[in-house]
Amino acid sequence: MDCLFCKIIAGEIPSKKLYEDEKILAFYDISPIAPVHFLVIPKEHIASIDDITPENSAIVAYIFEKLPELAKKAGITNGYRVISNCKADAGQTVPHLHFHVLGGKEMNWTC
Ligand code: AMP
Ligand code: ZN
Repeated sequence: MDCLFCKIIAGEIPSKKLYEDEKILAFYDISPIAPVHFLVIPKEHIASIDDITPENSAIVAYIFEKLPELAKKAGITNGYRVISNCKADAGQTVPHLHFHVLGGKEMNWTC
């Protein structure tokens, strides 16, 4: 499959890993927009939020269960924001489900 994040999971493209287990990978975004900016992805290829089903949704709960531990590991101490861009209008550029975790500064709220 010609998917950038599947290639990162396979180790064909290098990444700066924060955490990995049999189900998920967390790695730092190559173009950070906050002092701390990492991505959390399922190892199973799911294209976007629009492709979450009753059969594959457990991984989403698993990712969110892990988020506090991952944020702490990344050095975030004062809160963080989780974003998943879904398709064109949201600006999704990599069609493999991912959650951006942003922290390390006080953020505003605009679109
Ligand atoms: P999105 O635009 O929501 O689909 O997010 C994709 C994110 O992947 C962007 O923030 C990119 O900076 C990031 N990205 C693209 N290529 C890489 C890479 N090789 N390693 C780490 N992050 C990447
Ligand atoms: Zn993929």
